[in-house]
Order: sequence, then structure tokens, then C-alpha cells
Amino acid sequence: MAKTKRGRALWNMPSRGRGTCPVCSTSRIKLLYVANKSDGTALKVCKRCQNADQSRVDAAVV
Ligand SMILES: [Zn+2]
Repeated sequence: MAKTKRGRALWNMPSRGRGTCPVCSTSRIKLLYVANKSDGTALKVCKRCQNADQSRVDAAVV
């Protein structure tokens, strides 16, 4: 399978896969992981937040 989190693949994504993580508020970080809130909303989060507690994900402001 192609690497979807590195290299050229990122360039086709909006903002080249970067943005502000809704969970940790880090700006211009790569948002390549999906975290689901309890209400079913899918959030794009950074690597550091991919294993964040559900409570932190739920507290995130989109
Ligand atoms: Zn984060």
C-alpha cells in the first residue's frame, strides 16, 4: 500500500495535510489521523493525538 502520511501524497491534500490540531491546538502540524467524537463526528488530529483520551477528543473545538 502507498504511504499516505509521507511524501508527495500529502501535496494533493487540502493545505498539504497540515492544519491546526483541534485536540492539542498545535498549528501547522500534519493532520493525518482520524479521531471520532462520542457523537460520531470525525476529527482530523495530529500524530500526537491519535491515541488521545476520548475525553480530550470530545473537548476539542472544531
Ligand atoms: Zn494534536
